[in-house]
Amino acid sequence: MPEEKTFHMSPDDFRRHGHVLVDWIADYYARIESFPVLSRAEPGRIRASLPPHAPATGEPFNTMLHDVEKLILPCTELETHVLDWLVHMLALPEKFLSSNTGGGVIQDTASSASLCALLAGRERATNFASNQKGCDGRLVAYTSAQAHSSIEKAAKIAGLGRDNLRLIEVDKNFAMRPDILARQIEDDRRAGLLPCFVCATVGTTSSNALDPVPEIGRICREHGIWFHVDAAMSGTAALCPEFRHIHDGLDYADSYCFNPHKWMFTNFDCDCFYVADRKALIQTLSVLPEYLRNQATESGAVIDYRDWQIPLGRRFRALKLWFVIRHYGVEGLQHHIRRHIELAQKIAVWIIKDDRFELAAPAPLNLVCFRHKGGDAVNQSLMNRLNAGGDLYLTHTKLNDKFTIRLCVGQTNTTERHVERAWQRIQEEAARLDNSARNTA
Ligand code: PLP
Repeated sequence: MPEEKTFHMSPDDFRRHGHVLVDWIADYYARIESFPVLSRAEPGRIRASLPPHAPATGEPFNTMLHDVEKLILPCTELETHVLDWLVHMLALPEKFLSSNTGGGVIQDTASSASLCALLAGRERATNFASNQKGCDGRLVAYTSAQAHSSIEKAAKIAGLGRDNLRLIEVDKNFAMRPDILARQIEDDRRAGLLPCFVCATVGTTSSNALDPVPEIGRICREHGIWFHVDAAMSGTAALCPEFRHIHDGLDYADSYCFNPHKWMFTNFDCDCFYVADRKALIQTLSVLPEYLRNQATESGAVIDYRDWQIPLGRRFRALKLWFVIRHYGVEGLQHHIRRHIELAQKIAVWIIKDDRFELAAPAPLNLVCFRHKGGDAVNQSLMNRLNAGGDLYLTHTKLNDKFTIRLCVGQTNTTERHVERAWQRIQEEAARLDNSARNTA
């Protein structure tokens, strides 16, 4: 089989560029006393020298390294700039642009992003009183029964309590039912409670279900509830115009997050978190002792991301994201995302055609949930045997209370031959299990 087209860096290129980079860092240390301790760049100067859009095609490593020296070394406006690039790259609503009322920030994980969103929702609902006096037990949040456990964790940390997080029932495709959400909100209001936050998921962890964002968004708008959309893994698919339907209804969202560290070839950790109204988030998280005051922030000309997240200190995560986007270019990223989805769809078709197996849920993108028709014990031992073989790694979940195997195509270097090999191994192990079942019968 001919080698697949790839935009990834080869191990040899990586080694070569790595050596250049280590030399560059060593030179930086040698020159360190020649740099001012504090940046001398005026606010806005760095951004003005960066292109307004991400490059369509990949760029050479040396060009990027040169720019690090020339543009980036003195300042950290890069984060705002790269997050604005991503608004255009994913065709997110313009309100998430930093030039508008909102803006983006890099968090470590989607869990942190959702927690910040919930805190902002809590504060907006109480006119910032719960920050002062604490929660009074009336605040309620909503998400689907299939949402990631990080939402439950956020409800606990934010002081709402687990009992005040409503897990809304899902439909046959494991997506949140907006009719039940609307009814629950009405019931809670009638009971004197205060709905403050709804989280919809674009691509649930268990089955890649897509919650109906437009319907949920309309309900949140009607009730003035903070609406957060968690697209931790699947948001990346919107790099390709043909998959942007997953973000229909995002205009209603107060906040949104996706993780380049899951499916956009960026090393852990990197979650992009956007808000439509940055003032609400900043007012929620801002604490200003004297030792944190500085002229640049007070002039309003720079963004102080410490007020957009839980920790005070922060890493320069924008740099790796900037390297990834420039290395691949938008077209390179689109190529690999399309390819992953295409390969996952191939597996889905093979599963449908094999009488022994069934799909356990629709496979809209790169996650395929399936099971052997022989029942839970067979699926458990099939997965154990496959994982023990070391060729592939599968995880599991329960859907409709049945053991379900999850196969995700998203690893940077996965190509057609890996997927074919995976299917071959699944069939081999299934045949072995069938034989041993026949022999014991
Ligand atoms: N949300 C969804 C939909 C996920 O699939 C996951 C992780 O699998 C998370 C949130 C949590 O991600 P993180 O590890 O970035 O907190």
